[in-house]
Amino acid sequence: MSAAPHASDRAARTGNNEFLLTPGPLTTSLGVKQAMLRDWGSRDKQFIALNARIRDKLVGIAGGEGDYVCVPVQGSGTFAVEATLGTLLPRAGKLLVLVNGAYGERMMKIAKYLGRPAVALSCAEDRTPDLTSLETLLAEDKTITHIAAVHCETTSGILNPIREIADIVARHGRSLIIDAMSAFGAIPLDVREVPCDAIVASSNKCLEGVPGMGYAIIRRGVLEACEGNAHSLALDLYDQWRGLEGNGQWRFTPPTHVLAAFDQAVAEFEEEGGVAARNARYSENCRTLVEGMRDLGFETLLPDALQAPIIVTFHMPADPKFDFTAFYDRLAARGYVIYPGKLTVAPTFRIGCIGQLAREDLEAALSVIREVLGEIGVTQCGPAASAAE
Ligand SMILES: *Cc1c(COP(=O)(O)O)cnc(C)c1O
Repeated sequence: MSAAPHASDRAARTGNNEFLLTPGPLTTSLGVKQAMLRDWGSRDKQFIALNARIRDKLVGIAGGEGDYVCVPVQGSGTFAVEATLGTLLPRAGKLLVLVNGAYGERMMKIAKYLGRPAVALSCAEDRTPDLTSLETLLAEDKTITHIAAVHCETTSGILNPIREIADIVARHGRSLIIDAMSAFGAIPLDVREVPCDAIVASSNKCLEGVPGMGYAIIRRGVLEACEGNAHSLALDLYDQWRGLEGNGQWRFTPPTHVLAAFDQAVAEFEEEGGVAARNARYSENCRTLVEGMRDLGFETLLPDALQAPIIVTFHMPADPKFDFTAFYDRLAARGYVIYPGKLTVAPTFRIGCIGQLAREDLEAALSVIREVLGEIGVTQCGPAASAAE
């Protein structure tokens, strides 16, 4: 099999034979996995130092030294989004969410659970938010206090114009919360250039740790004023921050192994060359993938100008022989795990470019995809509309 020559190489680098071509959890390095072999006591001085180190480095990646603090929270990324919205939005606040995919929708849903008034400025999943409408909405509705935007909408893989959004929000004197979950560490986002009050992300995306914790990087002055906002004790980031600042410990059982792995992941991120290097590697992965898939006849949902180098959405082939489940299962059996679509506009599937993957891995994935297409007898990989052309 064409993937075989890579197998031992891959095992040495990642410790397994699976490649997750997904937006997280994703393929992690062997070093990250090995960092989980030690049991830490949560009061251990070294563990407390490890936590402080991670928090400082995350603030540094966002360019927020001095003015921002990092507050981690147990759980997946959504826990961190919910915790951030719940902590930053006062009871009398009102949220505007820019929606062009499932993660924007999810923030609307969170606001409902929180009992905070929320409005959506929505557009199609293959479009970026209309900035003129944003401008108008903020000018007309003075009751909107906070705006939530998604940096890379993982639903489609689209890159939203976060700098332009931030400029508009700042000009109108409102507070911006960025869900940068699938972009942080790989797409530049510096609070000195993109004014915002909070950036939310998690351990298991572009920083290539394992799942189990999220975090928010919050403007210190804003967080200081958030006492009593939260609807939930466990998700109160103000209280979590006070706890960490007090004795360096998490209030409740920390995900110790996840943190140890994340500490290693962040060290490897720095060693690689930080955001610029990771962006370059993922961009090369993305280019390799898109070119290879187009050579096979597949079409991307997004034009290249809107595509973030994180995850790519492809139209389902119109060929009646193409059965996604069979395609998925046969790829998975060879160690390549892809991702179903999450779009409402068109039948699609997704392939991720992030994690411990380099161009050779995407090339190997493409040759396995070619083999599998041959096995299931698919010859026409374009979507219905183009097949008819
Ligand atoms: C992954 C992701 C989240 C969080 O999802 P979880 O499944 O809770 O980790 C939130 N927003 C975006 C844009 C994401 O990509």
